Amino acid sequence: MNIHEYQAKAVLAQFGVQVPQGKVAFTVEEAVEAAKELGGKAVVKAQIHAGGRGKAGGVKLAKSLEEVEQHARELLGKTLVTHQTGPEGKVVKRLLIEQLTDIQKEYYIGLVLDRSQGRVVMMASQEGGVEIEEVAAKHPEKIFRETIDPATGLNAFQASNLAFKLELPPTAVRKAVQFMMALYQAYIAKDCSIAEINPLVLTGDGDILALDAKLNFDDNALYRHKDIVALRDPDEEDPKEIEASKFDLTYIALDGNIGCMVNGAGLAMATMDTIKYYGGAPANFLDVGGGASEEKVTAAFKIILSDPNVKGILVNIFGGIMKCDVIANGVIAAAKQVGLDKPLVVRLEGTNVEQGKEILNGSGLEIVAADSLADAAQKIVGLV
Ligand code: ADP
Ligand code: MG
Repeated sequence: MNIHEYQAKAVLAQFGVQVPQGKVAFTVEEAVEAAKELGGKAVVKAQIHAGGRGKAGGVKLAKSLEEVEQHARELLGKTLVTHQTGPEGKVVKRLLIEQLTDIQKEYYIGLVLDRSQGRVVMMASQEGGVEIEEVAAKHPEKIFRETIDPATGLNAFQASNLAFKLELPPTAVRKAVQFMMALYQAYIAKDCSIAEINPLVLTGDGDILALDAKLNFDDNALYRHKDIVALRDPDEEDPKEIEASKFDLTYIALDGNIGCMVNGAGLAMATMDTIKYYGGAPANFLDVGGGASEEKVTAAFKIILSDPNVKGILVNIFGGIMKCDVIANGVIAAAKQVGLDKPLVVRLEGTNVEQGKEILNGSGLEIVAADSLADAAQKIVGLV
């Protein structure tokens, strides 16, 4: 799960990470009010779940309240297209009105889980304020890393190592170390999967500040962070994915036209591959889980059908814990509720498969039965 920059800064500040003063604004009036509190000068920053705003005109410096008003008016409601939003862009509905910071130099600090080592790694670079992916590709030697032992956490000496490699002035090293330690505390305490400060800045006064902040959270740990879940912005997420999360379904929207309902992530991946192999394109990844109820199957079915691109559905279920008759009843209930008018191919295998098939055959719905994964994929691709 992602949150906005202003929310990330508030979370980080709870752990002692230094951030500039600032306030969120939903209207032009709120933006001007917030800027007054900052003494009239401010930076007006579009809040969307994507980086690259600076280059795209989403970060504006204002030297007066008039300029704040002008920038706020321009940005609110605007569709911002950055290299991270995709060509459709994102509509700006919130602004961060932030203290104008005197930047001496911009750096990069990031924390990420390195899956190959199974450990969190802190990365730092003098190449701040730019796309770090580009630095990593062209100048990997400019990114410094410290792998963190989960038993000890980030050590002060590791943080100092990074601070020295950043060639910070001696007076700023202690502040940078404190900053990194606090950032790590926040990352662990809130079960983040990414914490990225780009840029981290050294100010004219020699202070260390997070000028930008991005936090991603591990969805599997959200149950123990109600405060983070409360920061969810539905405007930034696919409504189908939000609906799916309510039913504990793992759903990811894709851009094809064959809706997939499968149990088990591995089988779902294999189903998508097979559809592709036979020349089709999946509209989604959907794992209904091991012990899905009829209600869950119905919800899953509705979510798939709410995607206007879907031209047909492939249900591929292996009944292990999940029984085929339950799936069959769910499919029928959902198909009737939504008035299904698109081709539906069902492949069932496993526990209670005969009962499941009987239920489907007796339903009066036009359901194409398939015997194997290849057969099912070919049938739905043909029908679509
Ligand atoms: P993005 O990464 O989406 O482009 P940033 O928050 O990193 O957005 O802002 C882009 C650039 O704007 C920063 O690299 C910095 O130079 C400038 N900037 C951002 N916030 C401030 C601020 N409070 N004061 C001064 N300059 C800022
Ligand atoms: Mg940035």
